[in-house]
Amino acid sequence: MAIRIETHSDVIRYTVRRTSGAVGVSVVMTAIMISGYFGTDLAAQIRVGEVLAFGLVAGVFITSVVCGVMTYRSGLLLLELTHARRELARISQTDQLTGLLNRRGFNDAALAALDRAAAGGDTAAILMCDIDHFKAINDRFGHEIGDKVLVEIADVLRQFALRHGALVGRHGGEEFVAVMTGLGRDQATERAEEIRRDCAARTIIDGATPLPVTISIGLTIASNGFDLADLLRTADEALYTAKRRGRDRVVEARAAA
Ligand code: GH3
Ligand code: MG
Ligand code: MG
Repeated sequence: MAIRIETHSDVIRYTVRRTSGAVGVSVVMTAIMISGYFGTDLAAQIRVGEVLAFGLVAGVFITSVVCGVMTYRSGLLLLELTHARRELARISQTDQLTGLLNRRGFNDAALAALDRAAAGGDTAAILMCDIDHFKAINDRFGHEIGDKVLVEIADVLRQFALRHGALVGRHGGEEFVAVMTGLGRDQATERAEEIRRDCAARTIIDGATPLPVTISIGLTIASNGFDLADLLRTADEALYTAKRRGRDRVVEARAAA
């Protein structure tokens, strides 16, 4: 059963309870061992050497048992703490709605991916994806359907990531981001087109009405000197150009103007 320790008083209460328990167990064990070994005749004469030998054996035995049990319990508490920490870290890096990495989780993973790419002499491509006219979808069909659209688009990205070993995340609002490493310029553009096509082809239904949903993508690719913030900014500028040029398209940063 999980122990609820939330305040300083809980810690003190827990410590006092455990210590009292340990002292109680030690007293009972000592009494049992003494009466078992020496008998219960309080007037009996016992040799000092015998008492010393008994005290030593009983002390080591009782201390080992009590310490062993308490250390085991502490181990269980530490295990629980470690699991709780891991779960907390996972939650703090996950977007609740879509289950993708959130911005913080994505940034951490992307920095690691860029480091690996730099070490291996690979290229790195960043894709900034934004749902087109999403505000109008919300306004027309309601926030719940808007959320459903976000979940579906996130699923397209998740499938894409599984297929191609890319890293994807929800950057915020209706924006998603992806990192791919080791691709040439044409390959990266083709992958971005694949995401765009898959999103446009995804059937999202409000009741019986299928909603046409498209996304625009800004893409940038670099072969060295990776700086995540710079790459994201450049991809975002390309995304802005894609919006200006009519949406539902991929624009690569080099060609952005
Ligand atoms: P554009 O094609 O230029 O990208 O236009 P847009 O309407 O998609 O962009 P805009 O930035 O005007 O609107 C984004 C909207 O996304 C506004 C905001 O209410 C909505 N939004 C952000 N996060 C969520 C969310 O978690 N759920 C829902 N349903 N809507 C969200
Ligand atoms: Mg946006
Ligand atoms: Mg948008």
